[in-house]
Amino acid sequence: MKRLLLLHWKHSLKRTYKKGDRMETYTGKSIFNGIATGKILFFQKGQQPVTRVKIQDTEAELKRYEEASSLAAEQLNALYEKAVREVGEVNAAVFEVHAMMLEDDDYVESIRNMIATQQVNAEFAVASTGDNFAKMFQDMEDEYFSARAADIKDISERLVNILSGKDSSEGIGEEPVIVVADDLAPSETVQMDKEKLLAFVTRYGSANSHTAILARTMNIPALIGVEISESWNGKMAVVDGYTGTLYVDPDEETLNRMEQKQEEDKKARELLLELKGKEDITAGGKKIRLYANIGGVKDVGSVLANDGAGIGLFRSEFLYLESEDYPDEETQFQAYKTVVENMAGKKVIVRTLDIGADKQVDYFHLDKEENPAMGYRAIRICLDRKEIFRTQLRALLRASAYGDLAVMYPMIISVNEVREAKAMVASIKKELDEQGISYGDVEQGIMIETPAAVMISDLLAQEVDFFSIGTNDLTQYTLAIDRQNMKLDNIYDSHHPAVLRMIQMTVENGHKQGCWVGICGELGADLTLTETFIQMGVDELSVSPSFILPIRKKIREMK
Ligand code: PEP
Ligand code: MG
Repeated sequence: MKRLLLLHWKHSLKRTYKKGDRMETYTGKSIFNGIATGKILFFQKGQQPVTRVKIQDTEAELKRYEEASSLAAEQLNALYEKAVREVGEVNAAVFEVHAMMLEDDDYVESIRNMIATQQVNAEFAVASTGDNFAKMFQDMEDEYFSARAADIKDISERLVNILSGKDSSEGIGEEPVIVVADDLAPSETVQMDKEKLLAFVTRYGSANSHTAILARTMNIPALIGVEISESWNGKMAVVDGYTGTLYVDPDEETLNRMEQKQEEDKKARELLLELKGKEDITAGGKKIRLYANIGGVKDVGSVLANDGAGIGLFRSEFLYLESEDYPDEETQFQAYKTVVENMAGKKVIVRTLDIGADKQVDYFHLDKEENPAMGYRAIRICLDRKEIFRTQLRALLRASAYGDLAVMYPMIISVNEVREAKAMVASIKKELDEQGISYGDVEQGIMIETPAAVMISDLLAQEVDFFSIGTNDLTQYTLAIDRQNMKLDNIYDSHHPAVLRMIQMTVENGHKQGCWVGICGELGADLTLTETFIQMGVDELSVSPSFILPIRKKIREMK
């Protein structure tokens, strides 16, 4: 498909202009290698500014609103059908709810009244009504109703987009595109259709952000720090992730050169595929487990294609980010079960919800914080809002009956947090026993991503089966460098001796208590350190799926 697209463009280019006519070249920082060729889609943030306009013909305005509302209903029905096919009825239900809200008498009446009595444009009437209703829901005590605020905002935004001709409801469209944006939040990235994404190019964002990590997991070239322009929308471009270059309106020579590079890339990957099925063992006989990091069910195919021996980090919070409301037990159970079943007996380590900081979810209604990375997040939320944690743990335990599932807790700083989490697991197991629901032998581990956890790793090791070192956060907290701050990318140094010593100390303390130790942060994929990690005694490396085979190659070449 992508190749056909390239040929088509090359053909039309030959017809329309000569080489070098109007090509523009930009550079940025590459966060994932690879070449992508395609049309640019300039990504607009969801909300469109709405201005109040006095209208004369209220009847015509009311008609405009009715038409937009019918179109929105059609879109929602289509989305519902698509979601039922792709993710099942339970997950699709949200679109049914949206369609119902769209026709809610109070909501419709408020919009119609504003248009008729205040003589305002439909966009303004919809946006104001949406804001009012969202506020009303938000203030309700009942959690279910307060969570509906996000739904009201969503349908109002859909209507405003239709009315203002900026209908973005079809997401990124049918054709695969290079997405260009000022910045992308993990919640935006995760909702894009991965099949339609050729590359990301952003002005802002740091190399260690979750959006960057997602690009690596999705295996697509991505550049940050590029001086982007909205005028590129719809233009053809090539992203060269090897050099961090973006060519807008590429000339024929560049296209040929890039095509050749892509071919070489493909050949190199094919060579790596010969390593599939081979052991992760050095020539000297040292073994290491090579697992993969995933963000959701859709990434499992890539783990299997790259021959991952297991999943070392399933960032479960992406299930929440993809969702419009708290995913219920059944939805989560189905997701975990699918992953575990697809991995057919290989280990799957699911990290419990790590929300907060850059991973914001509207329906959690988290307060704005001065220092979100050091704030209310991850295990802190889970141990505070236990009903959310309970739902996830029950889903995980139920899914454990279908394979080798392990649970891992993020952002741990104390023995008590671990004990509390384990106590919840124990009580849920008891409950499941009483209900006659089966579960498997679940290993429990923690992420080591705070200096506190490293310093008490001897004590923590007595509580758990394994440690997985999250070097992304461990670097951030050890060096006191915000991983999101692109200005500090150049000094965010995971090779800093303080970080490497912490890894060493964690491995030693873990092993003394019979705890196995892995690394699941991005540093685990750093080929220049693979040998060091093996010498340190690291038992497992968990990396983005596309890094598995290059690391296997490295390991097998080692003495
Ligand atoms: C880490 O901090 O290294 C990690 C693996 O978790 P995340 O990147 O999701 O914070
Ligand atoms: Mg982390």
